[in-house]
Amino acid sequence: MLLELDGLVVQRVERQADGSRLAWLATADETARACPDCGVFAHRVKGVVTTRPRDLPCGSTPVRLVWVKRRWYCQEPGCGRRSFTESLPAVPTRARLTTRLREQAGRLVVDGIYATVVASARQLELSWPTVMDAVRDVATPLTDTAPPPVDVLGIDETRRGRPRWRPADPAGEDASARGEPARARVLADRWHVGFADLGGGQGVLGQVEGRTADDVAYWLASQPATWRDRIRYVVIDMCTVFLAAVRRYLPLATLIVDHFHIVQLANNVVAEVRRRVTTLLRGRRGRDSDPEWKIRNLLGHNRENLTDRQLTKLWNTLVDLDEPGQTILAAWIGKEELRALLALAGTHPDRTMIAHRLTRFYLWCADAGIPELERLASTVSTWWPCIEAFLLTGLTNAGSEGHNRVVKLDARNAFGYRNPTNQRLRTRCATTRRARGCFNPA
Ligand SMILES: [Zn+2]
Repeated sequence: MLLELDGLVVQRVERQADGSRLAWLATADETARACPDCGVFAHRVKGVVTTRPRDLPCGSTPVRLVWVKRRWYCQEPGCGRRSFTESLPAVPTRARLTTRLREQAGRLVVDGIYATVVASARQLELSWPTVMDAVRDVATPLTDTAPPPVDVLGIDETRRGRPRWRPADPAGEDASARGEPARARVLADRWHVGFADLGGGQGVLGQVEGRTADDVAYWLASQPATWRDRIRYVVIDMCTVFLAAVRRYLPLATLIVDHFHIVQLANNVVAEVRRRVTTLLRGRRGRDSDPEWKIRNLLGHNRENLTDRQLTKLWNTLVDLDEPGQTILAAWIGKEELRALLALAGTHPDRTMIAHRLTRFYLWCADAGIPELERLASTVSTWWPCIEAFLLTGLTNAGSEGHNRVVKLDARNAFGYRNPTNQRLRTRCATTRRARGCFNPA
């Protein structure tokens, strides 16, 4: 009862000179003498062996276990085995660790109590490969089960680390067999694309290496068709690569584009116009004596976050610059018109309201006569179905970006991963902790 090791009893405990305790164990479970091959109970003892399995810490000083176990003759006539040594589920044959120590070593990492494999290994005085094997065993049920039903799927890329290449080998088999010139091959890609459950909070469901349309399509295609058909919305960044793959494998889902990237695009347009105007006006890059350079940060602010003083400063600076300043101002107002349109998201807007603000934005872009604004308007027009879906549902890819933060924190704790497969496994563990109840001990 003290150790709670099923099938073993403590016979005596000795204090060692170094302060540690030595516990002598004997077998209490009768099933330990059942032959592992035929299952018949053995009766004739062949000899005695002692093993020293490692176990979880108990008390403030180390406890070393010594299990005196017997070897038995199997006397069953039909059985091929002559003899065997006792074993128990708590301490399997040839195991140097108890089952529960091994499981704990893995669980400390999978459940995030220790951030890294090496931290768990140090705590339990085990080696890194032993703990990593335990992590794989504990995490296998996570990766092997089919993904749970998902209503809203978020797709986003994340930089996983440095790429690794196998250099081109001119005499290599695969090149010469096809008669093609030898090419370097990617062994570990720099990118991972993650698929996250944004509606149900089940974390990252999976990752795929690389960020081409084929990579995304491969992951989607390898999921069950019934699972794919249940997805109602897919949220992506403004990325045509994901668009193609999603259209092909999730034809029933509504595509939504994340608004952060639309606003980012609009802000880039304002900065681009400002730089072009400076070049035309002064024939050089901007410097800190230029009025438009001084307000460059204010141009990136949202209208509603500017104080009256800041707005006055921005407005007057640009108006004082005459024609060139008004071009920058027109670009800034265009950005704000687009933001006013996007602000309708989550307010259950009716279609007239959306149409009204969209028309205002388009008209502004058309009347301003600025090529950069026209390009922005045509991009919005291309992505309009996805943007409209965002306005109507209010769904964003913020959840995926949040998971990316967890993924990167995990990679930093590990000082980066060399092995992308291990990284995907650890990512899955790290991002599903909330869903698995690791943050809620009750
Ligand atoms: Zn047997």
